[in-house]
Amino acid sequence: MKTFTRRAALFAAGGVAGWGLSNWLGPNLPVYEGTKRTAPTADPNIMNDASGLSPTPVHQHIVMSEDAGDALITSIRNELAQAKTQGRPVNVGAARHSMGGQAIPRNGIAITFDNGAVQIDSTAQSYLAHAGARWSQVISTLDPSGWSPKVMQSNHDFGVAATYSVNAHGWPVPFGPMGSTVRSLRMILPSGDLVTCSPSENADLFNLAMGGYGLIGVVVDLEVEMVPNTRLAPAFEVMDAGSFASAFQAAINDPAVTMAYGRLNVERDTFFQKALLVTYRESVNQTELPPATGSGWMSHAASRLYRAQLGNEAFKTFRWWNETKLGPMLGGGEATRNSLINEPVITLDDRNPDRTDILHEYFVGFDAFGDFLSACREVIPASYQEFLNVTLRYVGQDDQAVLSFASEPRIAAVMSFSQEMTQRGEADMTRMTQTLIDRIVEIGGAYYLPYRPHATLDQLTNAYPRVAEFVQAKRELDPQLVLTNNLWDSYLGRL
Ligand SMILES: Cc1cc2nc3c(=O)[nH]c(=O)nc-3n(C[C@H](O)[C@H](O)[C@H](O)COP(=O)(O)OP(=O)(O)OC[C@H]3O[C@@H](n4cnc5c(N)ncnc54)[C@H](O)[C@@H]3O)c2cc1C
Repeated sequence: MKTFTRRAALFAAGGVAGWGLSNWLGPNLPVYEGTKRTAPTADPNIMNDASGLSPTPVHQHIVMSEDAGDALITSIRNELAQAKTQGRPVNVGAARHSMGGQAIPRNGIAITFDNGAVQIDSTAQSYLAHAGARWSQVISTLDPSGWSPKVMQSNHDFGVAATYSVNAHGWPVPFGPMGSTVRSLRMILPSGDLVTCSPSENADLFNLAMGGYGLIGVVVDLEVEMVPNTRLAPAFEVMDAGSFASAFQAAINDPAVTMAYGRLNVERDTFFQKALLVTYRESVNQTELPPATGSGWMSHAASRLYRAQLGNEAFKTFRWWNETKLGPMLGGGEATRNSLINEPVITLDDRNPDRTDILHEYFVGFDAFGDFLSACREVIPASYQEFLNVTLRYVGQDDQAVLSFASEPRIAAVMSFSQEMTQRGEADMTRMTQTLIDRIVEIGGAYYLPYRPHATLDQLTNAYPRVAEFVQAKRELDPQLVLTNNLWDSYLGRL
């Protein structure tokens, strides 16, 4: 275990926590938001996250690189015991791309897992991953053997246990969130006990920790499902936004479609009027799949175009044309499943220290998609925020996670904004986020918890009806509240 000295913690704050934000705009022509590479803070005991807007004092930041064996388990138990004695909180993170301090324990001990061990079991069609393994490491282990992760985010930088802990989803279809692909895991509870959890063993703990933001226990390793890697061919369809939900539903119902996403146009005057649906089906030729590649020149060109949209309506129109006409013509070739999801969060600094890129995500039922479009048209262009992109994904119904955001099959809308880093920018973003959440909860939807903590407590309880049950179980498991973060401090701990 490496314990950072004050000097080393300075590096950690800038180099890990302040890594910067990119976005998960979507596949095939993946363009990435530019990012603010947060400069190391003057105070080495301040940690931040991908937003650059969550400076939080911590007592210590520790990186643990051990295998998920006895040494790691002992280290974690020791940290938990010591933290309890000192009355400090602990929280474990991986890539620290959450945006509201969800992986930062205020004045506590922040642990970052940094071990990419992954072991394949082809017979079981699963792999055992160290909790801190990043998806890039999973893909590089699975790809040579012809396997692929079943569900992960659209970028490969995140930690596997972190993905389970936010219950992230991706764009392979027709799956629910990533937690539904975890067969079992080992977790250290706040008491120090090591438990194995799965849908059939300690299922209550399994369902609490899935999307439980590290508040239930520290996951040390997970057995996760994998699927064969395949060569896929894309198809592109442009339509009125009002027709998207039914076209998307038809794509999800088509067993030949294995990956799918959508986009909407973002010019202020015609905001969310048009939609693009991109679907992938297996190609006839499945022999000699090439090794997984990362982003190609198309991605890099697209990221430039993406950034050029800032404050420029003409560029928004040009980008839409590029995505719906030129892109399909130039970049619409075949690619393997692994190449499509092997996308780094590219940190293209926009060289503007005054702005940061902020993500939002909303989940709505297919029937509510028309109301969702109306709400967005009324709320978003009226704000001062620069709206750069929306990607639409499918999330299957999730009846497992206590903090589930998909009580029915849903369309997930991932939005990215460029925000001015000023009080007025933050105030406008807060107002707009709260208005949007109200409208979305009104139509039965939910918002995603790893982003900025702008929702009110009432909005959280309305969007997550089982939150009281979660908090009660948390208090029973962790009476000294040793595992906490800003999600707890700002919301759950107030219930
Ligand atoms: C550029 C970008 C793209 C994204 N794309 C997607 C996407 O396609 N789909 C999607 O659903 N989400 C997406 N997200 C959200 C993303 O999934 C979450 O922010 C996720 O938390 C990122 O993983 P991380 O490794 O950075 O987690 P961290 O921010 O480090 O941690 C997240 C949470 O997991 C907990 N945790 C981490 N490790 C452990 C552990 N070992 N045991 C217990 N708890 C743990 C932490 O305490 C924290 O609460 C994206 C975010 C960004 C910034």
